[in-house]
Amino acid sequence: MEKLSLSDRISRAIKQYPNDPFRLAQELKKLLRVAEREKDVYNIGKLNLNLAICIVHQGRRDSIIPYAYKAVSILETLNDPALLSRSYNLLGIAYAGQGNYQRALESYNKALKVIRGRKKPGVRKITLLNNIGDAYFSMGAFDKTLKISQDCLSFCRAHSPDDHTAIVLYAVNIFDSYISMNDFRRGQEILDEVQQDAEFLPESILLCGYYIRMSCALYANGDPIGGAKYADLMLKLVHAHLDTYEFHSVTVRIVSFQLQIGDFERARIISDTLTEYAEKSGHALDHIIAKRVLGNICYASGDYDRALSLFKELNVLYEEWMTEQKTMQYEAQKSIDAANREILKLMNKVRASEEKAERDPLTGLMNRSALVNVTTEFIEKSKALGKKLGGIFLDIDYFKEYNDSYGHAAGDEAIKFIAKICLDEESQNIKFFRYGGDEYFGVILGFRDEELRKLAFRISQKIRASGFEHLKNPNGQRLTVSVGIVNVDMKKSGYTILDIIKYSDEALYHAKDRGRDDVFEYCFLPDAEHEFRRLESNAKAE
Ligand code: GH3
Ligand code: MG
Repeated sequence: MEKLSLSDRISRAIKQYPNDPFRLAQELKKLLRVAEREKDVYNIGKLNLNLAICIVHQGRRDSIIPYAYKAVSILETLNDPALLSRSYNLLGIAYAGQGNYQRALESYNKALKVIRGRKKPGVRKITLLNNIGDAYFSMGAFDKTLKISQDCLSFCRAHSPDDHTAIVLYAVNIFDSYISMNDFRRGQEILDEVQQDAEFLPESILLCGYYIRMSCALYANGDPIGGAKYADLMLKLVHAHLDTYEFHSVTVRIVSFQLQIGDFERARIISDTLTEYAEKSGHALDHIIAKRVLGNICYASGDYDRALSLFKELNVLYEEWMTEQKTMQYEAQKSIDAANREILKLMNKVRASEEKAERDPLTGLMNRSALVNVTTEFIEKSKALGKKLGGIFLDIDYFKEYNDSYGHAAGDEAIKFIAKICLDEESQNIKFFRYGGDEYFGVILGFRDEELRKLAFRISQKIRASGFEHLKNPNGQRLTVSVGIVNVDMKKSGYTILDIIKYSDEALYHAKDRGRDDVFEYCFLPDAEHEFRRLESNAKAE
């Protein structure tokens, strides 16, 4: 069976559990562990994003932050605007869920910036605008929300007139802005305007939200029968969708209208629903709202003692709520800090493993696969700055015999020792590679010919002087290397790194031919001729 890539496995899981965010989260967490093991940064980002979405669907807004935050931090380093904009949007939702609207706005605005001018934006501009409107609403800037929601509604009517859900959603937001400014007339107008769209809605929280606002508008505008009708419609739906948090404020208004006209029965049903919801959610704010409504009912019905004791309880609940808010923000900051640490650790691991893959484990020198990356940069610089690029090729003399005489482990030590000498010479402009078994290759940027010769001499001299015994090496019965060098004007010659390797290798083999333990330079002559020049300074052992 063909093995699926991690990306394919993620898409498959998302398709497999479209309506089961709990099962999907389990699956995604498994894949996240695989991605982390494989240090697959892109998919780690993508998985964190999808986990954040799952958690939104689970209705646990307070736990989105670490996932959304990680998704953002990782995807910011990659070039995938669609995923990044979605992550910013989710982070915004997460912050808004914590009551941190300023930060929510920042995140939404970052998402807007990312999608600017993109054909495939990841998250739609209108969605972001609507979220921005929500955040402004929560901050009390109703006029801003009103303007944004109106823009969204006209845009939607013009471009996707069949998107009834979106149309009703924007209308509801406009309504909320109007009634926050006590303009119930206009509030009702906008609801009437989308009445036909609302008829298309399935039974949902949004439909419930529409009914409740309709009820409120009708009560406020002097139609208690209409108000009661919509309140009943809402109550029928609300049990299936108990996540009614978002229309608390409207519900409270409806109850006060009902109390004004003496409809205690309906007011009590709504009050019971709010209490039931508060008990389920356990949040202090929900208890506050439920108690406030009940207190109002008791007061209106003349039960002053009960009302008084309920209002006293409210004071305690307010304190609790403040603490809850503070703890939530504190917890959010803590989870962001933890997410930050995890990301840093991950990035370090990724960097280390990338480096490791490019380094030879025995010597710690870069290997051949790193050569292309490093030399490409060197070549570009050498052309841009008009500086020469040098090559230096080293090969241990009679190394087979060394292994035979002293054993493979001793051979390894010798290889490591020479590598160390090369590593010690490394700088911004000098890089060495383990080219093969006992071969080393170095690239040197911007050295004059004489400087390059000195470097080659210094290295071969250090090795010769190291005192490694090699009785089968006729050159002083110690460990030696043969070296070939070349220094090329890349801009003039149009040569590539392969040419530098080739010419320095030819010079090295010339040194081997001439008895080893020597340094030869490949020198260019006119008319495409060349010659090998022995390094005079190189004090070869007699
Ligand atoms: P020459 O002077 O012509 O270079 O002779 P040589 O014996 O060094 O020949 P050559 O360079 O062709 O042989 C390289 C030897 O290096 C062959 C192989 O056994 C040994 N070798 C390659 N990699 C390693 C290694 O990682 N450790 C050890 N101990 N030996 C290695
Ligand atoms: Mg050799």
